[in-house]
Amino acid sequence: MTFDDFGLQTELLDAVKASGYTTPTSIQEQAIPQVLDGKDLLGAAQTGTGKTAAFTLPLLQRLAAVEPQGKRRPVRLLIIAPTRELAAQIHDSVKQYGRNLPLRSAVIFGGVGMQPQIDRLRKGVDIVIATPGRLLDHLQRDNLRLDRVESVVLDEADRMLDMGFIHDIRKVMKKLPTERQTLMFSATFSREIRQLAGGMLKNPVEIDV
Ligand code: AMP
Repeated sequence: MTFDDFGLQTELLDAVKASGYTTPTSIQEQAIPQVLDGKDLLGAAQTGTGKTAAFTLPLLQRLAAVEPQGKRRPVRLLIIAPTRELAAQIHDSVKQYGRNLPLRSAVIFGGVGMQPQIDRLRKGVDIVIATPGRLLDHLQRDNLRLDRVESVVLDEADRMLDMGFIHDIRKVMKKLPTERQTLMFSATFSREIRQLAGGMLKNPVEIDV
């Protein structure tokens, strides 16, 4: 199988080629068609398996299928990650894979000033990558709205549970439309993860790599 088999648009295939990838990884083979199809997904995958591209490529394609609406764009894709390092890494991937697409993104995490993040959000972004605590902070101050989100990704959900982010995540999820696509990735499917997934995903496709 090659990347050409997924039906991804040229802009994304060119970015994949520029990244030097020739063959999709196992999780990419399994996840990309399902995510393109709009399915919810529960994925057991460690870092290093290529999972970031597995969700980013098809979600970018879905976003790009609809023209961005003017200057004040709503957030349409939200990616939540446990740490600032991971959030920054995902943001780098989003920028890399989306380099040929007219989409705007922002990364939001704690430990740095709020104002530059507020300024960025005010300019209008299609994609937000965030850690749970700072995201909730911005939501409670009305610095962003999530009522137009089409897809949400919870990356390293097991770590987010371990780090005590469960209440923040539940509060964030309440701000999202109920009609949406939800993806959850975790190193393992523990009872807690299944419980969390049960409340947030609809008939998810399960992938284990
Ligand atoms: P991740 O699991 O998303 O953290 O990705 C691990 C690493 O694999 C990253 O450095 C990616 O750039 C790289 N990568 C992702 N997909 C592929 C692929 N299909 N072929 C080669 N490298 C890849």
